[in-house]
Amino acid sequence: MQIFDTHAHYDDKAFDTDRDTLLGSSLPQAGVCGIVTAGTNVESSLKSAALAEKYDYVHFAAGIHPEDVAGAKGGDISRIADIIKSHKKAVAVGEIGLDYHYDGDRELQQHIFEAQLSLAQDLDLPVIIHDRDAHADTLRILKQFHLRGTLHCFSGSAESATELVSLGFYIGFTGSVTFKNNKKAALVLAALPLERILVETDCPYMAPEPFRGQRCDSSMIHSTLAFIAAVKGISPEEMANITMQNARCLFGIKELKA
Ligand SMILES: [Zn+2]
Repeated sequence: MQIFDTHAHYDDKAFDTDRDTLLGSSLPQAGVCGIVTAGTNVESSLKSAALAEKYDYVHFAAGIHPEDVAGAKGGDISRIADIIKSHKKAVAVGEIGLDYHYDGDRELQQHIFEAQLSLAQDLDLPVIIHDRDAHADTLRILKQFHLRGTLHCFSGSAESATELVSLGFYIGFTGSVTFKNNKKAALVLAALPLERILVETDCPYMAPEPFRGQRCDSSMIHSTLAFIAAVKGISPEEMANITMQNARCLFGIKELKA
């Protein structure tokens, strides 16, 4: 089975001890043939770019995550723009969005989110969106732009997923769909067309069952794929193929080089 993981954070310090073993050999051996590793601030976007330069099958996104806006400096958005413009393997602006789970400056989050959405529009690139407990504002702001992209680790309703698909977005699902308390995921998946579903890990976070709680990596994506395939009534192999085509289509990746 060939796997494309559309959302990972291989720059994370959780991979400091074995990053090269994973990306250089164990993940390709486990069938991982494509990864988008997403930056969360300027430094993390630079590290993500370096990983994409080192490994043919790794692509990257650059952006400022909503949890990183407080530490962002003036000029960081133009630094993100420079990183994207100077690397051929930059496939998206991300990870960007809104996170209202913890107390934070919501106005600042919205301002930086909007600035990065207009950057994506200017560069004609897709966006990778993080929306945690901020569904209404995320949708309201996205409607002000003409963009394509993915709502990663989607946690909204079937209705909002359908609306996002009609606006041109894909919906990304992580290992959280396999968690026993997640009853909503199957309903959302059932409502979506196969050609708008993406599968991702968000590693090192969100390890699917039966690995829940462990450090996640892209090889653990099998149980997420199996869950989604069962809801859609197709085989995990078919689901892997479809989500790989979807990822290549959204991110404009013509060739997959192992
Ligand atoms: Zn993420």
